[in-house]
Amino acid sequence: MAEPKENLQMEKIVSLCKRRGFVFQSSEIYGGLNGFWDYGPLGAELKRNVKELWWHAMTRQREDIAGLEATIIMSPKIWEASGHVATFADLMSTCKSCKKLIRADQVWDILIEQPWVQSLADVVDVGTQTFDGDALLRWAAGKGKRLAPELALVRNPTVTLSWLSERSKTSKENPVSAKEFYQYIATEQLTATGLITPCPHCGGELTAPRPFNLMFETWAGPLQSDENKVYLRPETAQAIFAQFKNVLETSRQKVPFGIAQVGKAFRNEITPRNFTFRSREFEQMELEFFIKPDEVIEAIHGSVFTPTPNAPLATPQPNWGWQAWHQYWVEERVRFYEGIGLSRETLGFHHQTPEELAHYARACTDILFKFPFSKKDEQGHVKGDELEGIAARSDFDLSQHQRFSGKPMGVFDDELRAAWAKLPKEKADDLWKRYYDHRKNYLTKSAKPDETPEQIAQQATEDANGLARGQYIPHVIEPSAGVDRLILALIANAYTETVKTDDKGKSETIYTMKFHPRVAPIKVGVLPLLKNKPELVNKALEVRELLRPWLNIYYDEAGSIGKRYARQDEAGTPFCVTIDFDTLGEKPELLDTVTIRYRDDGRQERLKISELLAFLLSKTR
Ligand code: ATP
Repeated sequence: MAEPKENLQMEKIVSLCKRRGFVFQSSEIYGGLNGFWDYGPLGAELKRNVKELWWHAMTRQREDIAGLEATIIMSPKIWEASGHVATFADLMSTCKSCKKLIRADQVWDILIEQPWVQSLADVVDVGTQTFDGDALLRWAAGKGKRLAPELALVRNPTVTLSWLSERSKTSKENPVSAKEFYQYIATEQLTATGLITPCPHCGGELTAPRPFNLMFETWAGPLQSDENKVYLRPETAQAIFAQFKNVLETSRQKVPFGIAQVGKAFRNEITPRNFTFRSREFEQMELEFFIKPDEVIEAIHGSVFTPTPNAPLATPQPNWGWQAWHQYWVEERVRFYEGIGLSRETLGFHHQTPEELAHYARACTDILFKFPFSKKDEQGHVKGDELEGIAARSDFDLSQHQRFSGKPMGVFDDELRAAWAKLPKEKADDLWKRYYDHRKNYLTKSAKPDETPEQIAQQATEDANGLARGQYIPHVIEPSAGVDRLILALIANAYTETVKTDDKGKSETIYTMKFHPRVAPIKVGVLPLLKNKPELVNKALEVRELLRPWLNIYYDEAGSIGKRYARQDEAGTPFCVTIDFDTLGEKPELLDTVTIRYRDDGRQERLKISELLAFLLSKTR
């Protein structure tokens, strides 16, 4: 069976990434290290641009966000407070035959990509459960034996086949699903335990899933003892919570305000896959945006603004509660993606269901990108895979750090104290009770084993009494994005193939990386028309020096001008500047002008050198 189209597309992208120096396998000369990737010259520039743009949009362009750069290794107590030590785990199965480890929720996704499953499609139409028994036996003895030797169908073909035929006789009333089909051909015989889930790699039997903590451990200090055990951070966010008070005090910010951080994160993913999409070392761009609890907004402003679902919210207002802020940040982040070339059509959304949400979270919207490997849903639509999650996390994180560190994480708000003093008793009682219920709920769910219901009720009472004094623990909205996934999305989005046929009928595939000029690794190619004409070369070097302090440029004099344009197209350079004889005044009216060539349509225009920098800056920023 032909390989699925999307995999071919990914293969081409991976190959271009290597050929042009976007992404290399880490430690390649030693056979590589699974889940680790290096960025080559073009990839490093692309990544730097993306992080700079995010930082710029989040901090310098706004009054209400401050930056932070914390360490990767922090006190292990942070990860106890955040819940990562106890619960940051994925469910993992092991194959009893080949011993490979597989993330339980990815078994079927991995399985359908395997060569044995794809080769089976020549013999069986899994959709309609039609198969030719003899062909299936031949498959078992040939490709099956080679590609999935542990399948029951391979080891015990006739018994498995007769059982499968028996089952398919009843298929009209109760059709065999694709999953069930693969389970049938993997299961030795009908046993009390029922059908087994095959190992995607060899067809063998998988163990029941068990939790596997994803944090990398190491030791700070010479002794590899329990006291010295530390973790490589699995997310950047926790440092923001741990430094909340320091940033608040030094930045002169007031709630609502945010703290932004970009940095490395590490997760010992069980099955790193889809190129850089799921890596073990990656980078995150995270914002924690601290807001007033809804009860506080209501006390100050009388009511909380209720947003119309999906209506854009452009300018933050004082009476916004968590819902409006959450909606605002989803939209802000989409606008950011649009601003770097990912149109809305390339994106998707997943609104987490109550079952998917963490117990403390009120909402979480994932922004998805339609990657070439993204699967279709039952209706045949590609929904996409997660680029970024935007979660409304209540006051959980700061509360946890307050409890674990013993240091107060609350803020004092004069406006609240003044407003509370003026509230009618009934209103104050109502807000007090709602805040009390929320705190009690949190304290009960995160109680340590020795905490009694009375202690919890007392703590919740103290917390709610704090409102009258103007005290509360801020809630938080967390837009959390992955740099590497975004880079992959930008690369997949930019990748364009065109077949050109010359006069003699010879066809050639042309590759163009249509990056948005803001993220493009190289902004301008500077090209003298001919290499052997010193006047052209000198003028081109002058142009290079004019642009170089401001823009990442690439000077290229080697090869025909067509080849040089093609090289820049493949690197994704949006503009080329060519210095030709007219620049030198061959046509006097064109003296000191250059040709600007546009990557996406090959259009060429003439521009004065004196106007060049301003023009290019306006297009690339
Ligand atoms: P997933 O469900 O795909 O594992 P997640 O929901 O666990 O992701 P978060 O913990 O919300 O991810 O992390 C925030 C962002 O960090 C993700 O949206 C993603 O862009 C990025 N990210 C998370 N894990 C990885 C990884 N293993 N490799 C690359 N990027 C990652």
